[in-house]
Amino acid sequence: MANDTIFGRMLRGEIPCDEVYSDQHCLAFRDIQPQAPVHVLVIPRKPLESLRSAEEENAELLGHLLLVAARVAKQEGLDDFRTVINTGAEAGQTVFHLHVHLIGGRPQAWPPG
Ligand code: 5GP
Repeated sequence: MANDTIFGRMLRGEIPCDEVYSDQHCLAFRDIQPQAPVHVLVIPRKPLESLRSAEEENAELLGHLLLVAARVAKQEGLDDFRTVINTGAEAGQTVFHLHVHLIGGRPQAWPPG
């Protein structure tokens, strides 16, 4: 269950996080192992495991997560940034509560590894 992940525990206030934005639908906080000067995770309060498990009814929420990522990027002084959603273990997902990575503050290569 996505509720039982480390992110679920953060949402319930059981463990602390370095919060940068919060509203009724989502929480954004700094990644504990940042891959760039700015590395923030935006997560829905609703416990979706991954993009794979999202449904049509989640469309507005998914759009909101991206808009929040852009808002946080601006807040962090970033013009250019990358947003990433890893879906499934082979794609690099390690925490099974949907999250958008916001990464910026340095040049980034493409394609990703
Ligand atoms: P994924 O690999 O699932 O796409 O991303 C999970 C991210 O969560 C990783 O970048 C990892 O560093 C971050 N992360 C894992 N545990 C914690 C934690 O306890 N606190 C914070 N702030 N980030 C975490």
